[in-house]
Amino acid sequence: MKYKLETIPVWDAFKENGECPLCTLEEKNEKNYIRFFLGDSVMDPDTRVQVNKTGFCAQHAALLFSGGHKQGLGLMMHTFLLETIPQVEVYAKALSNKAQDLTKKNVLTAVIAKDRTLNTAIDNLAKYAEQNTRACIFCHRLEQTLLRYTFTIIYLWKKDPEFKKTLSTSKGFCLKHLPMVLRMAKTELSGAQSGMFFKMLIPLEVQSLKRLEQEILWFTQKFEYANRDKPWKTSKDALQRTLQKLTGGVYSE
Ligand SMILES: [Zn+2]
Ligand SMILES: [Zn+2]
Repeated sequence: MKYKLETIPVWDAFKENGECPLCTLEEKNEKNYIRFFLGDSVMDPDTRVQVNKTGFCAQHAALLFSGGHKQGLGLMMHTFLLETIPQVEVYAKALSNKAQDLTKKNVLTAVIAKDRTLNTAIDNLAKYAEQNTRACIFCHRLEQTLLRYTFTIIYLWKKDPEFKKTLSTSKGFCLKHLPMVLRMAKTELSGAQSGMFFKMLIPLEVQSLKRLEQEILWFTQKFEYANRDKPWKTSKDALQRTLQKLTGGVYSE
């Protein structure tokens, strides 16, 4: 088997019957990872090496910052900085040298040299900084975990008639997690199976978006004076659920 099966957490997430079971699972795991990264792993050399290689994206850095262990995060950031500085210096030195050369040239040759050498040095430093701020060990591990859950979803759909029924009466997946499900089904299901799977899933997704459109519409109309005493129906949390469906994530007040 390609991935380890995770049937219990997958079933639990489907039982919540939210807009996306993978969002539910992602949120739970995110909380566990915060505990992990701010817990014993701070002193674990292997994790430190990996953190030093990749660092964290802005979203996860913010979660770690509010995770209640400033000294641990400080230790991690100190060693990450020690790793980062020499790498920045390579690109920064190249850029400084080119800039210095340029000041010694006459106007005409400076134009040519800028195009040839300075622009490349600028791009290299910019690219390094971009890659460095986007790469995230937290995102990477979450993705690996979500792949196991997605694999389990497809596996259960194949093997367990009750799960098949549960998925076909669920609210589908958010648009952030849908691609993962589509790709996993594409690689894990045979021709006839994938026919059945997509025949079930795609109308489910479209219906789900249309239902939300009605729910969020009533949510906005409820703010009008004439509707203030009318019932919310199912729209009270339609904003959270629409945000989730369109972008992924769990939104709570
Ligand atoms: Zn989701
Ligand atoms: Zn991240």
